[in-house]
Amino acid sequence: MNPNDQYFQQQQQQPGYGAPQLGQNYGGMMPPPPRTPVMVNQPQQFPPANGPQNMNPYGQPSPRPPMTQYGHSPLPPQAANPNQLAQQMGGMNLGTFPSRPPMASNLLASPMPPQSLAPGIAPPRPGLMPPMQQQQQQMRHVSPQQYPNGPGMDNMGHPVNGQQFNSPRPPTGGGFLPTQTAGFPGHPPMPFQQAPLQQHQQQSHLPPTQQQQGGYDSMGSRYPSSPNYPPGMSGPMPGPPSQPMPPQQQARRLDPDQMPSAIQVMEDDKRTRSGPFATNQKGLVPPLVTTPYLTQDQGNSGPRFVRSSMYSVPALPDMMKQTAVPFGLVICPFAQLEEGEQAPPVVDMGELGPVRCGRCKAYMCPFMQFIDGGRRFQCPFCKATTEVPAEYFQHLDHTGMRMDKYQRPELCLGSYEFVGTKDYCRNNVFPKPPAYIFVLDVSYNNVKSGLVHLLCQNIKSILQHLPRESVGGQSGTSRVGFITYSKEVHFYNIKASLAQPQMMVVGDVEDMFMPLLDGFLCDPVESEHIIDQLMVQIPTMFADSRETETILGPAIKAGLEALKAADCVGKLLVFHSSLPIAEAPGRLKSRDERKLLGTDKEKTVLSPQTTFYNQIGQECAGFGCRVDLFVANNAFVDLATIGQVARLTGGQVYKYTYFQADLDGERLVEDVRRNVEQTVAFDSIMRVRTSTGVRPVDFYGHFFMSNTTDVETAGIDSDQAMTIEIKHDDKLTDEDGVYIQVALLFTSPGGQRRLRIHNLALSVCTQMADLYRSCDLDTVMNLLMKQSVTKLTESTPKQIRDSLINRSAQVLACYRKNCASPSSPGQLILPECMKLLPLYINCLLNCDALSGGSDMSIDDRTFNMFAVQTMHVGASLAYLYPRLVPLLDASAPASPSDQDDVVLPSPVRCTGDKLRDDGVYVLDNGIHMFLWIGLSVSPEWIHGVFGTNSAAQIDIDRTKLIELDNPRSQQVRSVITQLRSTRQRHMRLTLVRPRDKLEFVFRKFLVEDKHGDASSSYVDFLCHLHKEIRNLLN
Ligand SMILES: [Zn+2]
Repeated sequence: MNPNDQYFQQQQQQPGYGAPQLGQNYGGMMPPPPRTPVMVNQPQQFPPANGPQNMNPYGQPSPRPPMTQYGHSPLPPQAANPNQLAQQMGGMNLGTFPSRPPMASNLLASPMPPQSLAPGIAPPRPGLMPPMQQQQQQMRHVSPQQYPNGPGMDNMGHPVNGQQFNSPRPPTGGGFLPTQTAGFPGHPPMPFQQAPLQQHQQQSHLPPTQQQQGGYDSMGSRYPSSPNYPPGMSGPMPGPPSQPMPPQQQARRLDPDQMPSAIQVMEDDKRTRSGPFATNQKGLVPPLVTTPYLTQDQGNSGPRFVRSSMYSVPALPDMMKQTAVPFGLVICPFAQLEEGEQAPPVVDMGELGPVRCGRCKAYMCPFMQFIDGGRRFQCPFCKATTEVPAEYFQHLDHTGMRMDKYQRPELCLGSYEFVGTKDYCRNNVFPKPPAYIFVLDVSYNNVKSGLVHLLCQNIKSILQHLPRESVGGQSGTSRVGFITYSKEVHFYNIKASLAQPQMMVVGDVEDMFMPLLDGFLCDPVESEHIIDQLMVQIPTMFADSRETETILGPAIKAGLEALKAADCVGKLLVFHSSLPIAEAPGRLKSRDERKLLGTDKEKTVLSPQTTFYNQIGQECAGFGCRVDLFVANNAFVDLATIGQVARLTGGQVYKYTYFQADLDGERLVEDVRRNVEQTVAFDSIMRVRTSTGVRPVDFYGHFFMSNTTDVETAGIDSDQAMTIEIKHDDKLTDEDGVYIQVALLFTSPGGQRRLRIHNLALSVCTQMADLYRSCDLDTVMNLLMKQSVTKLTESTPKQIRDSLINRSAQVLACYRKNCASPSSPGQLILPECMKLLPLYINCLLNCDALSGGSDMSIDDRTFNMFAVQTMHVGASLAYLYPRLVPLLDASAPASPSDQDDVVLPSPVRCTGDKLRDDGVYVLDNGIHMFLWIGLSVSPEWIHGVFGTNSAAQIDIDRTKLIELDNPRSQQVRSVITQLRSTRQRHMRLTLVRPRDKLEFVFRKFLVEDKHGDASSSYVDFLCHLHKEIRNLLN
């Protein structure tokens, strides 16, 4: 039982309560504005890539499985059948777009009888639709030479590159029917490939339920007509809708550029939704995470703090179940704000403390409704009424609102803080400012790699970033302490009055205790000279260490004991290098069986081998001691086991494989600096309250829960998010909404006990289409990703993959069946807000955290799993769909003085098709960063940036660009710095040229492409998902 539990009364004991009434300050239910539709056959923003002859020069022996879609590599045997292409082409017709943009929801229209077309889509010419058999026949005889732009498929009948599908096809191409259900060409049998063939013609009529269940005759009647076109385009493209499209338009097939594009979605949102975002209505769908917006808090928390996967919740649980859209919240309680956004104000109610609902203990918020002339208020979460404390009384105005509404943050804002009274403190005692303890492994590995020396050298500058907060006129300074260890543990006395630091050694690691009563934790400013000396002494003292066997458990325990002795919470920054094999508590065995990765047995190596680190993690969590692990290993370290201590205490895991101070030093120091300076809320406990009918059920992130409702973290920082699945188990009423209150009690860096409150109101809908229109796909993906990764230790990879595919097919099939206009079942129709679902699901299936196979180390795989668990929505999106930025534009002449305002080039689709051999690209996913340098880049550019005469001469082992004194070099470095600054971790820069050994690693992150036999390209996956959807519709 957590000592803090007293602050939160048990909500479950409450009897059922009704739904709340909304205060007048909310403008009632307003439909969220539809996201701007994307015009799929808009002119390409980037020049088309050159033909295959001068791009992607593959074919060199690669240490990795060949990448078949690029044509030069050996093809898997199943691709050799020319029928496969025909089957694939028939399996799905993508991008058959007329010359005017289709309806927002009809992104992937296949040819179909004209009468079944969605409104707004010009029918294809009837003559272009031969029967299926005939098409296949024709397809088999199409020779590659017929495609003017080069081989649209290789001579094996294998699609080699999206580019070629741009080529106009012979007219026969117009008739491929969308019915074939062949497997993916070039694929090994996949779990989902055994589905039987089906004939879509049998399904030319939609089930009758469609009309009854709110199916729209025309989505156009719901979407205002203008949003069918991107802003700036006032109407239809030339040509009346019914006019047959020109043959070249019709002839497009399977062109990846015609499929829903993440880049296009982000750009459209940026164009239409940038700028202020006022949170003055319930159920307002926020801009995408990639859009620069400024929250104006007008009664609901901004989307940086809380994002919901849906902003309009179905009234009936059954409808929710049918749609299969996940309902969850991603909460980033201390998210960093943009310049111009207001930080949540701190409200000090003095002795009174925060005003709360008498029954469910919800905190005063804008959703509370004052009645009885202001003497009572009704809680939207439990419907109970509570008497207003006399000190808090205020008259109501003629509209029923308190006169002081706009003077009190808790009555008019979505996010604010309350100062906690003694009742909110451990043992009713106000806390001391939290402390920071550096715990440094000084065994042979860390000394030899240069880590010990590097860290000691940089501690001084790192400490300058410690958060400082002045509380009640007193500056609350965090104290620091130092521990080193290898086989024994060393504590240091750094008291300011000493002439030099003193070392205390504890050799008995079985029963760790704190040998120093005074002088271990000190103010880094007062003890500056002693710390300086210590940082010179440590590297010298251990310079000759030959100790290769280390401990870990006792070192963490030592840090915890030190905090306990000082009676303050805080965090440990542990710099560890190797598997703890020395005889001590927490000793581990090696079990580096990476061949198990990707198999049904992988969970055995992805789960901890002992509960020791879970237990010590719980002990630390219980005391408010967060543990951050900085692992600099060059062999198996069993992160799956030792990382538990970080997971349970709200800590982060950082990993530097084969750490070398000269190459990775900057990264480590930057990570430590950022880790130290981030606002950390210590000793926190979070409770999420919801109105009746919905309730939080599952929690994902780094924390510890000792009961089913309270999420405890020893420390949470501004990068960390917690994802919560919400269960909908009771009817909601239309006039009400869904109310959510996140309350997080914490100790500030200055030692103040405070509560941060976030409030969010969602709408309720009775039409399924309203749900689909109010989804936030990026949040949906964050939830699905964390759920899937969590299941890795209990399920098999295949089960997880299947369940993701089934669920997404269900989401889209339900939309197709109930919300889309009647049309041919062969037509893939995607809801506007979810049109990237197939893309992102495919990215999720292939991401390192979920499907990293034996080409990764077990530790790297585990590291990815830990990293995703704390990601907020922006981070998870970047992880799933990496940012690929062309840099060559940055080569335009620029004066050095401009470098501060370098405009970041726009990202391009994450596919090899976009790489030009005369281009340079930066790719990053928040964890890795690559600089890909084409071999035909101009020598001037290469010389300006790398100082060599050709790309071939670049030293690709370096991890940072050399600083050359010319505008081009400055500009490129500045772009990379800017790209880095948007991510939580300092990403190591890996230089890659075509055919370099590491290129296969880089290519793995080109997520629209196919990688090896076990994955699908975006096109393939879309085909497959389409088939699954049709199966469900049948
Ligand atoms: Zn209540």
